[in-house]
Amino acid sequence: MDWRQLSTSFLPKVYYSIFSKQCSICQSHSQTAVCKYCKVGFEHNRHACSVCQRPLSQQQIAQQQIAQHASQQSLCGKCQVAPPPYYRCLAPLRYEGTTRILIQNIKFHQQAHFIQPLMEIVRDHLVTYYSQNAPWPNQIVFVPSHPQRIKERGFCQTQIMVNTLHSLLKSTLTSDLPYIATRNPIHKSVHTQAQHTLSRKLRIQNQQGVYQVQGPIEEHVALFDDVMTTGSTLESCTKALQRKGAKRVDIWVIARTPDDKHG
Ligand SMILES: [Zn+2]
Ligand SMILES: [Zn+2]
Repeated sequence: MDWRQLSTSFLPKVYYSIFSKQCSICQSHSQTAVCKYCKVGFEHNRHACSVCQRPLSQQQIAQQQIAQHASQQSLCGKCQVAPPPYYRCLAPLRYEGTTRILIQNIKFHQQAHFIQPLMEIVRDHLVTYYSQNAPWPNQIVFVPSHPQRIKERGFCQTQIMVNTLHSLLKSTLTSDLPYIATRNPIHKSVHTQAQHTLSRKLRIQNQQGVYQVQGPIEEHVALFDDVMTTGSTLESCTKALQRKGAKRVDIWVIARTPDDKHG
């Protein structure tokens, strides 16, 4: 058996079967992956830009309430000046508090059992959105980690997340289930310095030519990543998908970083 297949599809199932009668955060008895008390700790991204899902400031929330009253969409300053290449982003949570701790534990401490509860939140958010704003994308692709990081960590967390999300969608949707290709069409070709150590300008420069798309791409694609910070990686991947024929790219992320937490 291919060990990579084992680590990406089998591992979360093993974890989940062990912890399925327990809350994966506090370990108390629970029929769901996160108990009702721990669920309260998640920071939902309720007030956000209607395109890029950038969390809005208190002042912007007040303006949004006025705009909603006038049945207009609320756009952040960046989307008003330069709309992103993707159609829109769906981000149920803010990258802070409990959400941030869980994602960091998945990435840096191999705590794969936290993937299931986070993907359940993403699944619920997507089902709510697409039931009101059909159609669903035809295909799901994801932003991969660099092969070197996968080797260091022993797994690609976005791949495990996408596989978990796909099986959750499979058991929820009766039709319109988007497919995932056996080989993710997006590849990262050049080793880059860790993104969080670079300025925004350097991050953007760093992305150019880094992601390549190989294989058939549907006209309506969902592009998954765990967290969206500046959005430069996702914009660069969106453009690469569009060059291969995608007409509409929807971004799916677990969490969006508020502006004051960039760094
Ligand atoms: Zn709990
Ligand atoms: Zn925006």
